[in-house]
Amino acid sequence: MAHKVFIFDTTLRDGEQTPGANLNVDEKLQIARHLELLNVDVIEAGFPFSSPGDFEAVRAVAREIRGPQIAGLARAFAKDIDACWEAIKEATNPRIHTFISTSDIHLKHQMRKSREEVLEMAAAAVKHASQYTSNVEFSAMDASRSDLDYVAQVFTAVIDAGATTLNFPDTVGYAIPDEFGAKIKYLMEHIPNIHQAVLSVHCHNDLGLAVANTLAAVMNGARQVEVTINGLGERAGNASLEEVVMALSTRRDRLEYFTDIVTQYIYPTSRLTSKLSGVPVQPNKAIVGANAFAHESGIHQDGVLKDASTFEIMTPTAVGIKKSSLPLGKLSGRHAFKNKLREMGFYLNDDELNRVFARFKSLADRKKTVYDEDLISLVETEVIYKSVPEHFRLVELVVLTGTMARPSANVKMEVGGQLLGPYSVFGDGPIDAAYKAITHLAGSKCKLLKFAVSSITGGTDAQGEVSVRLEDEGHVVTGQGVDPDVVTASARAFINGLNRLNFLKEGGPVQKGPKPEEL
Ligand code: MN
Repeated sequence: MAHKVFIFDTTLRDGEQTPGANLNVDEKLQIARHLELLNVDVIEAGFPFSSPGDFEAVRAVAREIRGPQIAGLARAFAKDIDACWEAIKEATNPRIHTFISTSDIHLKHQMRKSREEVLEMAAAAVKHASQYTSNVEFSAMDASRSDLDYVAQVFTAVIDAGATTLNFPDTVGYAIPDEFGAKIKYLMEHIPNIHQAVLSVHCHNDLGLAVANTLAAVMNGARQVEVTINGLGERAGNASLEEVVMALSTRRDRLEYFTDIVTQYIYPTSRLTSKLSGVPVQPNKAIVGANAFAHESGIHQDGVLKDASTFEIMTPTAVGIKKSSLPLGKLSGRHAFKNKLREMGFYLNDDELNRVFARFKSLADRKKTVYDEDLISLVETEVIYKSVPEHFRLVELVVLTGTMARPSANVKMEVGGQLLGPYSVFGDGPIDAAYKAITHLAGSKCKLLKFAVSSITGGTDAQGEVSVRLEDEGHVVTGQGVDPDVVTASARAFINGLNRLNFLKEGGPVQKGPKPEEL
C-alpha cells in the first residue's frame, strides 16, 4: 500500500531568505493562494518574532488561507513562541514550529551551551508551545552534522513534551543520499516513541543533492518533506517542491508513496513565485525550466511527434504547461476574452477585467496574434504586480534613436497626481535616456542593481518582458513591465519598481527584519 508523504512548503519562510527576494504581505498572500490550489499540506508563512512585517504577513496568511495548515517559525524561547501563536492562531489548523541547534559545532561556537542544557531548552519550548496547540513541530538545527544518538535522545524527550512532527534538517547541505537515508532509518529504529510523531526532513542544495537526500529519507521512513517552489532558499536553496513531487509521481513503480499535490498548478505557481520574488528560473531547471520539455535533437523531435512517450517521461500538461490553444485576435470580444481568462484560472473582478481588456485591445492592434503567454503577462502587469499604489505613472514616452541619431527620450509622468514634464534628455541608448528622464521627474536616488529583458513568445512581434531590481535606502525591490516595445516595457518596469520603493518607504508592507537563524 502506498504511503502518503506530507508536503510542507517553506517558500514564504526559507524561500524568502533567498538573497534579493523579498515579498510584501500582498505578494505572500498571492503565493499562499497558489499553494492552496496546489493543495500543499502545510504552508510555513514566516518567522513572526523576526520583524513586525513578518508577523503581519503570517497573520494575513493564517486569516485567509483555509485549506492547508499554517505554520510559523519560532526559536526555542517563550517570547518567540508567544508571538508565533499570536500570528497563526486564526488559522484553521495552526502549527508552531520551534527549533534549536543540536550539533556540537553550533553548541560550542554559536550557543556556548552543553548538550544537557539544549535538551532541556528543547523540551521546555515544546511544552510551552503545547499549551497553545497540539500541532507542534520541533526541528534539530544542523541535525545532519549532530551526534545521531544525541538527536534521538532530544527527539524522544520532545515527543514526550508534546511534539507531533520531528524535523531532521540538513541545514548546511552536507549530507549524501545513502548516508542521509541510513540516519533516518536509525532514528526510526532507535526512538522508542517515534510512532507518536511524523519524521520530517529539510534538505539544502549546497552540493546539488537536496532532492536526492529528500527521496532517500522518504524511502527510509520520513513522511513529511520540507520543500520550496523553484528550490528557493538560503544559499543554494532547498529541495524543490516540483522535483520531489514529480519524482514521486513519475516513479510510482519504485517509490510507493503519494502526495496530495494537484500537479497542474505547479507551473503557474512556479511562474508567479519567480515573478514576485524576482528570482528567475534557469532555463534547464527540471520540471519548470523553459527548456524542460523542449526537444532539440532531430531524432528526439521525430520520436515525440510520433509518440510523446518515446522521449517524454511525463507530459507538460501534467505540470500545467499548456500549449497555446485558440489564440485571440483584435476581433475577439469581451465575452470570449473573459471565458479565455477563466479557462486559464484567472478570476478577475469587473474593474480588473476592464483594465486587462483595454490593454489586450491595444496589444491586438499592434500584434497579429495574442497568445496565452501574452495574456498571462497582461494579467500579471495589470492586476498582480499592481499590488502597490501608483504614486508614479507614465503618461507619455517618446524616444529617438538609430544609427544616425543621438539617443534621447522625452517623458511626461504623473507624480502623486501631479502632471510633470515633458522632460527631455540624451542617453547612451534609448533605455538609458528614458531612465534618466524618469529618475529626474520622480526625484529618485535609487540605484539600478539589475536589468533583464526577455521575450514572451517567439517572433519579432513578441512582447518584451523587462525585470529590474532597484535599491534605495537599504530597500531592494523588483519591478516588472511588459510591452511590445522594449523601451516602453523598460520604462514600465522602472516605474513599477519606483512605486514599490515608495510603498516600502511609507511603511506599507513587509520590511526585512533581522535575518532569522537558518534551519
Ligand atoms: Mn533552511
